Amino acid sequence: MVDERATLVDHPLIQHKLTIMRDATTPTAKFRQLLREVSLLLAYEVCRDLDTELVNIQTPLETMEAPKLEGKKLCLVSILRAGNGLLDGMLDLIPSARVGHVGLYRDPKTLMPVEYYLRFPEQMSDRMCIAIDPMLATGNSAAAAVQRIKDSGAKHIKFVCLLASPEGIDSLASEHPDVPIFTAAIDRELNEHGYILPGLGDAGDRMFGTK
Ligand code: URA
Repeated sequence: MVDERATLVDHPLIQHKLTIMRDATTPTAKFRQLLREVSLLLAYEVCRDLDTELVNIQTPLETMEAPKLEGKKLCLVSILRAGNGLLDGMLDLIPSARVGHVGLYRDPKTLMPVEYYLRFPEQMSDRMCIAIDPMLATGNSAAAAVQRIKDSGAKHIKFVCLLASPEGIDSLASEHPDVPIFTAAIDRELNEHGYILPGLGDAGDRMFGTK
């Protein structure tokens, strides 16, 4: 924990994979594979405090009371389009999760989010929701997406990213102090175009090969 408003998930495996992802020479397929692996490890940490309940089961030898996850299936909310890069790895670990989507793009002039798609599963108020976007840059899109998730009725929301800027943490934490932030790294700063430095470039372009 470096910034008290964000949990730094700095497992050596994550740091190693992240270094390869930052490298500009890493090709698209490798970047995508690493993102999938890192997101699984991030999901493991984010789910650490999920509630469990004891159920009776029969092992091959005897009966026992054993813990299972309690409550409604949790909901992963991908902030499009880059959020989809975190989705596959998280679903590898939590295959029964429901998935919502918030489509936002950043207006390149104002850097403010513009909504183009919104879809959530039912009963959001009963689900723990994990909003996912690889880059917490200005924090504008993240804060807007979290607001949409709150508007759907969700009460328990966490935010997971790969890289965060100090500015992004400030912005999201001040607008939504009730939403814990998990990140694999907190980078130095944003540049004038809203990119994280040193960063890894445009996460969407790196994972989809669109540049
Ligand atoms: N979005 C990205 O993909 N990269 C950044 O550095 C900032 C926002």
